[in-house]
Amino acid sequence: MNKEGLSYHGKTDVRSKYADEKVIKDINHYTLNMGSGKQINIYVTDDYDQKYGKEFAYGELGEMLSAIEEKRGFKPYDLPHSSLDIYFYTNESNTPLPPDRQANTGAWILNCGTGMPNEIIMNASRLHRDHRQTLVHELSHYFDNQSYFTMSKNTYLNYGGEDFYFWLSEGAAEYCSCFYYSYPANTKNKLATFDIKDRASIFQYAIQQAGGRAKVIEGTSLRSFADIVKASKGNYGVILALYWYIAVQYGLEQLHLYTKYIAEHYTSSGLISMEDREDTTRKFFNKTESQILEEWLVYFNYFKSE
Ligand SMILES: [Zn+2]
Repeated sequence: MNKEGLSYHGKTDVRSKYADEKVIKDINHYTLNMGSGKQINIYVTDDYDQKYGKEFAYGELGEMLSAIEEKRGFKPYDLPHSSLDIYFYTNESNTPLPPDRQANTGAWILNCGTGMPNEIIMNASRLHRDHRQTLVHELSHYFDNQSYFTMSKNTYLNYGGEDFYFWLSEGAAEYCSCFYYSYPANTKNKLATFDIKDRASIFQYAIQQAGGRAKVIEGTSLRSFADIVKASKGNYGVILALYWYIAVQYGLEQLHLYTKYIAEHYTSSGLISMEDREDTTRKFFNKTESQILEEWLVYFNYFKSE
């Protein structure tokens, strides 16, 4: 699928949940047809196009979705109750869309197995790197929302807590953004694409995300994968570093099987002991979470600047 599936329909008025259902007036409307299922709606302000170049990021949406689909093994837009509306704007665009948010994927009803409506906002005023990488990150959340992953959120919360779910979700989204889609050269503007692909570049990303803090990771006793979120103050470089490390050392497929197994094997309220968790991790990686974390810290030299 490529740009052939993208059609322009002129300007329209539309309501967004992100704008509390207020009307966004006179916004450019495109639809993307992926060849089956629901059309995807793309809304773009003139200001976004003027600043970043016509079709920047959204012109590649079809290729991005195809690339993720290939890895995730399903087409979310085929689900009968799924839908996707994406907004590209800036704070100068004069819309009621939120000025203070960067990029976000939202859903306002639960997915009961047949998909759910999603909106993605892309506020270019708050994005400082190539928006395409942020868009692919958000699309990972869209795939999660249409799958067992978000449907099993309460099970993950019961299994490992809020930070465990956060790590699985954001780790997968960062991994997707870095490894699932090959970005063609950016010919539309001067925004840089972060080339994150190996230990050295992920290390640098974590240091950069820490904003020059001397310590990227605080504290040394990491017992559960969830612990890295607080220990790094939610550093996306660190979150990616662990997700990537497990994918490389034990196989991305094992990581996916582990994620799915938790959703299928546990429930949202049953008691889960430390032994259960150790058995689960051993089943897929032959090690406990704390053992993997220890070797991961050594591999990344405890994220001390090199
Ligand atoms: Zn995210």
